[in-house]
Order: sequence, then C-alpha cells, then structure tokens
Amino acid sequence: MSAAIIDGKAFAEGLRERVGALAADFTAKAGRKPGLTVVLVGEDPASAVYVRSKGKATEAAGMKSDTIRLPAETSEADLLDLVGSLNADDSVDGILVQLPLPKHINESAVIAAIDPNKDVDGFHPVNAGRLATGLNGFVPCTPLGCLMLLKDRLGDLAGKEAVVIGRSNIVGKPMAQLLLGESCTVTIAHSRTKDLPEVVRRADIVVAAAGRPEMVKADWIKPGAAVIDVGINRIDAGEGKTRLVGDVAFGEVAGVAGAITPVPGGVGPMTIAVLLRNALVAAHRNAGVPLEKGAI
Ligand code: NAD
Repeated sequence: MSAAIIDGKAFAEGLRERVGALAADFTAKAGRKPGLTVVLVGEDPASAVYVRSKGKATEAAGMKSDTIRLPAETSEADLLDLVGSLNADDSVDGILVQLPLPKHINESAVIAAIDPNKDVDGFHPVNAGRLATGLNGFVPCTPLGCLMLLKDRLGDLAGKEAVVIGRSNIVGKPMAQLLLGESCTVTIAHSRTKDLPEVVRRADIVVAAAGRPEMVKADWIKPGAAVIDVGINRIDAGEGKTRLVGDVAFGEVAGVAGAITPVPGGVGPMTIAVLLRNALVAAHRNAGVPLEKGAI
C-alpha cells in the first residue's frame, strides 16, 4: 500500500485565502483591519525567523501586523506592563508573545497576563480550560491545524482510535482534547509509556509530536492508518549539511499508512495559517462583528 500524501502546504494556502477574503469583509464592516501584535523578546535567531514570517503572512492576509521587538534584558515587570497596555488597546485583536522567553522571565506569568479573548496562541489557562470543557475559546494553532487536515481527509472522526505521541501543553494535550471533542477514543502516549509501538499499532489516527527524529517506524502502524507528523527535527545530512525530518520514518511508514503528512510541507505551514484564522476570529469577537458559524 502507498499512502496518500496530505498536502498541508496547499491546504494552508487555501485557508489563508479564505482568511484574507473574510478579513476584507471585516475591514469593510468594522472600518478597521483585524490586528495582530507579536512581541519578541531577545535575539533568538529561530524566533526572529518565525516572527518575520508571521508578520509577512498577517499583512498578506490584509490584516494589521505589529511586531514589538524588545531587548533580551527586558524585565518581567516591563513585559507584563506591555501586555497590559496591549490588552487595553482596542485596535489589537490578537496578542502573541513569541516563546521561548529569556530565562529570567516566567513564561507562565506572561501567558496568564494576556487577555484570554486576545490569546490567539490559545496557551492561556482559561483557553486550555475552555477546550477541555467544550466551550468556545482559542485553540493552539498547531493541533487545530492537524485536526483540520484530518477532518479534510477522513470526514467524521467519531469512534476512531487515536494515539497522540507527546503531552506538551502546546501540541499533545490540546490535540488529544480536540480528538476527544470529535468523539475519538484517545490515548496520550509520552516518554514514560510502556511498549509504545504496541500502543501505536491500535491507532486509526496517529499524531506524532515527540521531537524525536524518525522515531515512528512502519511496523508500529496499522495498515491504512492516518499519520500526522508534527515533529520538526534538523539532522545531520553529511558533508556539513543538515536536513529536516519529522518524528515519523516517512519513507517506510508511507508504505503502510493510508495517509501521511510530509515534513516539510505537512503540518508546518498550517500553524501560521491557523494563527491568522484565530486572529480573524478574535477581531470579530472583540469588535462585535458576527462571523457566520463554520465560515472558517
Ligand atoms: P515538547 O518537547 O514540549 O514535548 C515532547 C513530548 O514528547 C513530551 O510530552 C514527551 O513526553 C514526549 N516524548 C519525548 N520522547 C518520547 C519518546 N521517546 N517516546 C514517547 N514520547 C516521547 O515538544 P513540543 O513542543 O510538543 O513539540 C513536539 C515536536 O513538534 C517538536 O519536534 C517540535 O519542533 C514540533 N513542533 C512543530 C510545530 C509545527 O508547526 N509543525 C509546532 C510545535 C512543535
């Protein structure tokens, strides 16, 4: 069997186009653009790249993009003050504080300071609680992107066995909650799980988010299963070069799975597209402009 390739790049482009069209409608109705503000503290090169691409994508979708760059020595108190003033600014619909923060700043305190209704990353404990209790809130972008790809491929997920590998607050746990919300039977596996291959073998849906290069092998996969690879790992490709691989041994797993996301070009492009989607939703809620249910 040869798996269908789930083209996250194409899906993300479509989503960004839909966000762009709805952002134009919003601008016409509200008399202002939806606004996303990204805060970057320090000079981490990978974070700087992410923040630049988020800014470009926000503008490309016809939204107002602001990036606030602060020096690495910024105090926690000053960052909390800034978050407070963004919370109070009606032209700011979404606030994203790029992680990781410098070590002297308590990330949990900063996340908790963001107005939950502007928390487009969905990391605030109020939004985690809303997701866990089935209330409307913001859902972290990467797992929501994974769910969109799964529903697009499989339709109704009810009754399916799903195994999520990884239990982080930003991917594994919200992913499991989303799949539970779709009436899957969900198992969360992690670094202390016993006999992981056996656990994964029962899954109709596997979401791998462990950060372990090519860990998931072909003989872990039930034939025909859908495999979503969240991992992004840079490995040595010899001759001083590197290449990106996921948490799934793509070449061999593609011979057993029914559908699989590649790395790159699978889950990765979905994250920013869903961030734009969340910012658009935040704008409608904050400005009191109705957004048709299921519009995005
Ligand atoms: P994390 O390090 O916070 O969590 C990893 C989880 O995997 C932990 O819960 C741990 O228990 C589990 N784990 C580690 N080793 C394991 C093993 N051998 N067997 C079973 N479980 C194991 O990582 P994260 O932030 O959740 O990210 C996971 C991966 O997803 C990373 O590769 C990261 O780069 C990638 N990621 C990609 C995107 C994207 O946009 N595509 C977004 C976020 C994270």
